[in-house]
Amino acid sequence: MLIVISGFSGAGKGTLIRRLMAEHGEDYALSVSATTRAPRPGEVDGKDYFFLDKARFQEMIHEDRLLEYARYVDNYYGTPRDYVEEQMRAGKDVILEIEIQGALRIKGQYPEAVLIFVTPPSAEELRSRLVNRGTETDEVIRKRMNRAADEAVGVEAYDYILINEDVERSTELLHKVIQIQHMRVSQKLPFIYEINKELRTLE
Ligand code: 5GP
Repeated sequence: MLIVISGFSGAGKGTLIRRLMAEHGEDYALSVSATTRAPRPGEVDGKDYFFLDKARFQEMIHEDRLLEYARYVDNYYGTPRDYVEEQMRAGKDVILEIEIQGALRIKGQYPEAVLIFVTPPSAEELRSRLVNRGTETDEVIRKRMNRAADEAVGVEAYDYILINEDVERSTELLHKVIQIQHMRVSQKLPFIYEINKELRTLE
């Protein structure tokens, strides 16, 4: 299954996903995006993102090596196709941490994808998290707050909303909501066919 996790910049989704991977990493594969944004202090190429220049990013688009891509506050971000398809074939739930335009494109291509939106309890909390992170200039914070206002309008397209008040509780809820998707009948068709066959032979 594809699990798309979006949220306002500063909603705490990065921390949530790191915890989810630390606690339940055997169940999930985390996609690493490509971006033209410069690395923040401590970010590692190939782990946090594949940091590319614009020309290289364009090349990936033209070679159809991105499952989706979008522009977000002056930079491009995209999901490399190979890893996602490989992990899905291996039966993993693949987690994409992407913004809303990308999320909607994924839903268009994979209607079974589960879209989860993470938000802090209030706009004030969002602003203070962005400021306290200390990695963004005032100008970028302003642009990201504006972008959050735009994204708030699109939240209705998502399947679930997770109000992140407490990281530990939110991590568990996130894990549960993903696991519950496996109970959808559409995910269990081979099982149903199998049991149906057995019922007939036992008749
Ligand atoms: P940041 O610069 O804070 O790491 O990310 C900015 C935004 O880009 C976040 O909302 C993040 O979810 C989104 N993003 C990261 N990777 C991708 C991607 O591969 N595709 C899309 N569409 N958005 C992404």
